[in-house]
Amino acid sequence: MSDTLFADASKRLEKALKYVSISEDAIEHLKFPKASLAVSIPVRMDDGSLKIFQGYRVRYDDTRGPTKGGVRYHPNVSMDEVQSLAFWMTFKCAVLNLPFGGAKGGITLNPKALSRMELERLSRGYVNAIADFIGPDIDIPAPDVYTNPMIMGWMMDQYSIITRKVTPGVVTGKPISIGGSLGRDTATAMGAFFVIENIMSKIDRSPPETTVAVQGFGNAGAVIADLLSKAGYKVVAVSDSQGAVYAKKGLDIPSIRQYKLSSRGMKAVYCEDTVCNIVEHESISNEELLTLDVDILVPAALENQITEANVNNIKARYIFEVANGPITSVADAILEQRGISVFPDILVNAGGVTVSYFEWVQNRSGFYWTLEEVNQRLRQKMVEETNQIWGIAQELSISMRTAAYVHALNRLGEAISAKGTRDYYVNGKVSVP
Ligand code: NAD
Repeated sequence: MSDTLFADASKRLEKALKYVSISEDAIEHLKFPKASLAVSIPVRMDDGSLKIFQGYRVRYDDTRGPTKGGVRYHPNVSMDEVQSLAFWMTFKCAVLNLPFGGAKGGITLNPKALSRMELERLSRGYVNAIADFIGPDIDIPAPDVYTNPMIMGWMMDQYSIITRKVTPGVVTGKPISIGGSLGRDTATAMGAFFVIENIMSKIDRSPPETTVAVQGFGNAGAVIADLLSKAGYKVVAVSDSQGAVYAKKGLDIPSIRQYKLSSRGMKAVYCEDTVCNIVEHESISNEELLTLDVDILVPAALENQITEANVNNIKARYIFEVANGPITSVADAILEQRGISVFPDILVNAGGVTVSYFEWVQNRSGFYWTLEEVNQRLRQKMVEETNQIWGIAQELSISMRTAAYVHALNRLGEAISAKGTRDYYVNGKVSVP
């Protein structure tokens, strides 16, 4: 992980600032995280040894409400990465007009190397270490890379033990039986799907004539591949951390999902067995997947996948960022020059945090919605905000990414100004509408 990820993320902000008229106070405010916490988590391993893991939680900005963001378990987790992801969450929540600020957390580890009991002790230990930093009205964690509903359930349970109150609203992405929301498991991909559908209809493109490659076959990637394939798009390539498969006439995504689930091995997506017979395919590398000549490329794995090194080989016409930060700012500028349309993470993958918000609302009201209600409300939000960002991009002749930041900055600027600005105090100008 580059130690300049945060500096790179901040460049997106600088670009958008040219198109907004918000107070200098607001700009200054958004340059720094509100609070950052680094913790050591001691875990008794199954063999009796003691191992200390490094964990982080950053609350970037809470002007618009309690902070919200996932917890990542990955060997590359660092304070720089967590801070960058918390920064993106601030803008993502503003883009979707959720009453939340941005946060993120993570633990540096290889989760595949831990047993389930070690993972539980680690997850509970993380909550022990950050309990004073989170809460349903302070900061609400959620799942991210290599964290799942089971882990969220342990975290909620541990927080409830510490506070001696059952507190489902402290964590989202929980199992349904202990306060999770229907539709949360598919929300990120479902939200991305609504954005893709909306954009494809604007540019008059039909699913069967549209080829798609998806990088990453986890919570987000496998579901978006499935939704697109069911809607008639031709998903020609998918990958996981071990490699990729490609079939010109389209892959059988449900079979690949089923096969991967049943074998539970990361290599299963290679179709080493029966799935091979369903669709003829070839094995390619992740790098090859990114540079396929497809209409839509969906990076749904990790950040920094399209960089200066490979950007000139990208042939996709449209890129929908389901992963957070998969394109570096240098590569982003080159894609823009080359006329490749990029639809940004802070809009495209915001379905996850939107249904997390729905889960938090349901937890606090104690009244639970049907799957249809969740998906219908999600569609409404995703379509509404996509249309607004599309309108800004057209009006100002700027990229969808810059337009999304402009949209978020306007909302953040207004909220920060509501607490008073220099103009208000020194010049007597009232900037609050
Ligand atoms: P996940 O752990 O379920 O899946 C990650 C997938 O990426 C796995 O299939 C893994 O094998 C694959 N992968 C890892 N390194 C890879 C590489 N170099 N090349 C190709 N594939 C690789 O994680 P997820 O929840 O699906 O998250 C994926 C991305 O989506 C992350 O950037 C995450 O921040 C973002 N995201 C997720 C959610 C959510 O609700 N799950 C919400 C918003 C954003």
